[in-house]
Amino acid sequence: MAIKSYIPHIPFYLQDKLLKIGIDSLAKLLNSNYLIVFQQLKQLYPSLNYNTLFDLYCLVNGLPLNSLNYQQKFQVKLAYAHLLPHYTPLPQISINKYLQLALNEATTTTNNNEVPIGAVIVKNDQVIATGTNQTISCSDITQHAEIVAITRAAKILGTHRLSECDLYVTIEPCLMCVGAILHSRIRRLIFGALEPKTGAVISQYRALNNINTNKHTEAIGPIDNDLYAKALQQFFSYKRIPNL
Ligand SMILES: [Zn+2]
Repeated sequence: MAIKSYIPHIPFYLQDKLLKIGIDSLAKLLNSNYLIVFQQLKQLYPSLNYNTLFDLYCLVNGLPLNSLNYQQKFQVKLAYAHLLPHYTPLPQISINKYLQLALNEATTTTNNNEVPIGAVIVKNDQVIATGTNQTISCSDITQHAEIVAITRAAKILGTHRLSECDLYVTIEPCLMCVGAILHSRIRRLIFGALEPKTGAVISQYRALNNINTNKHTEAIGPIDNDLYAKALQQFFSYKRIPNL
């Protein structure tokens, strides 16, 4: 009979859970960021509450369990509130592959008047939906590539929560699209190039970093400003040529 692994000095209820995220010794836990450990555990066990966070804090700081006072607990909770989501790192090959697909979508749009931005939604390494800007053809300012892709993915999957999906988009999303990304609980947002005028991830707003909103989405980007902004720059430079 196999002997079950046991991590000395770790509370019983945390044993299996920590093993699930690859922590099989106290030394490994001590070398980890306890906030990220708690975040990873929450992704696997959503019902875990702040008591687990306090236990992790006590363990990594060599304090007895249940020894934090109100002020210390507040500080630990505050530190966690500032933590941005961290998911399993994506291989660069996946990032390049799906951003290239998004770029293909952007540049093969049938309506040449639409701003060439493309989006792709991926779940379990499979493309679920794609989207391009359709604001002109639909006479609807909400029809940005990201929202088109999110709406299609939600219909295909039959759920408004896309928490196991990653969204790849050629250009940094605007505030409206970041709002849709937050509401749909997209897991990762990967964007190709910055959008200096309207970007709401880094450029104009850091809407995914708001301490008061639930953080579900990890932002990755810009991946390559020159490559992914090229189609957009060409589109606008062509637009500036006066009609002859
Ligand atoms: Zn947008």
